[in-house]
Amino acid sequence: MDRSKCPICGLGKLTKKVSDEVFEYKGNEVVVPRYTTYVCNVCGESIVDNKSLKKSSKILKDFQRKVDGFLSGEEIKRIRRKLGLTQEEMSQILGGGKKAFARYETGEVSQSMAMDNLLRVLDYVIDRVPDVITYLRQIRRLSNPAEEIKVIYLDKVRYKYKIHKGYKSTTEEEVNFEAKQQDSLCA
Ligand SMILES: [Zn+2]
Repeated sequence: MDRSKCPICGLGKLTKKVSDEVFEYKGNEVVVPRYTTYVCNVCGESIVDNKSLKKSSKILKDFQRKVDGFLSGEEIKRIRRKLGLTQEEMSQILGGGKKAFARYETGEVSQSMAMDNLLRVLDYVIDRVPDVITYLRQIRRLSNPAEEIKVIYLDKVRYKYKIHKGYKSTTEEEVNFEAKQQDSLCA
């Protein structure tokens, strides 16, 4: 970005402004230190510096979670370590995409209330029922890392189920068996 010229109006000049910016959420305030913006002297628009945007986004997400009574990124990390799991294992066992826990912990994404509750329950229960994770692993078939492919035929339609490293079974592929047979006859 050409920092000297305003990308909004194309006329003004941008001046760098660094300040401790106060943000408000549901009547609560949080300060983002050294928040950098570029202010136009003609249209008055201010453009947020990329670094500041990233930094403030993390601070604001955590702040929002705190105000709403949700676990912060640091707290989620603490619970995950207490459970003895990697970020990827957390997703495999508890749900969410592959990168979900990395994102919860950095504050890129907020967890749902259901996930928040589940994490709190596990935090409480792990001291009393230490094999709760083993139990969850079994449900998600994580004890068997072998890749398994099942093909079943239902009414001439071939369904191919792929169970990969214990991930939930899903219909990977759905092909018309008859059409496929004809293809192989023509070939
Ligand atoms: Zn401008």
